[in-house]
Amino acid sequence: ANTKRRAVMAGNWKLNPKTAADAKTLAALVGAARRDVDADVDVFVCPPAPFLADVVRVLEGSGVAVGCQNIYWKDSGAFTGEMTAEMAKSVGCTHVLVGHSERRELFGETDEHTRLKTRKAIDCGMTAVLCIGETKTEYEAGQARRVCSRQLEAALEGVQADELSQVIVAYEPVWAIGTGLTATPAIAQSVHAGIRQWFREKYGDGAASKIRIQYGGSVKPETVDELMQAPDVDGCLVGGASLVAEQFGRIFNFD
Ligand code: PGA
Repeated sequence: ANTKRRAVMAGNWKLNPKTAADAKTLAALVGAARRDVDADVDVFVCPPAPFLADVVRVLEGSGVAVGCQNIYWKDSGAFTGEMTAEMAKSVGCTHVLVGHSERRELFGETDEHTRLKTRKAIDCGMTAVLCIGETKTEYEAGQARRVCSRQLEAALEGVQADELSQVIVAYEPVWAIGTGLTATPAIAQSVHAGIRQWFREKYGDGAASKIRIQYGGSVKPETVDELMQAPDVDGCLVGGASLVAEQFGRIFNFD
């Protein structure tokens, strides 16, 4: 972490918990944990779509913001099953995850979809949390940086430097997501530095020094402190451990 950039910690609840009642309970616990912690850190959680409005209400005034896990890039029309950025924003969402590897792998999302969603989130006044990262095969072939650059190039095509305040990058090596395998701080740092270098080449020093880059993939209370010491790791995107308020609270109260 670098004191010039404010840390940002996010919880990706994925397809959890099972009911609205449980979502409100978890949100209340996360809100209480945030109130207990006097840390200089941005925190947001991304619950499933049906729980967004309730979670926003529960977290009001807690200092924890709410994001959605996905949006569609159209504004309205015959697109059964989708949710627009405007809809999410109208219930109080400020952030949206874009390009998560589960969306790419399981739901066929392409770099082009990721670009359209990033564009829409920015135009709607939300913050796009742009998820990038290589697979295990790509990692073993030494292609982590190249894959990340390709994904950034595609998703940020047409995005101007002054719009980057509405972008957070989440580096999530696919091989570390939900596997219990955290990238070592050295691996994370090396890829994060590569990502920042990409921003430097594309947008210049100012933009590169401001862009916040989260690490994601099996982040736990036991691994967060060391990860956050890496100079180019500005926060974490947390799946499993964000479902336990005590663990998530420990993560956003990192040392
Ligand atoms: P994990 O998920 O922390 O459970 O590995 C991270 C993510 O997919 O965002």
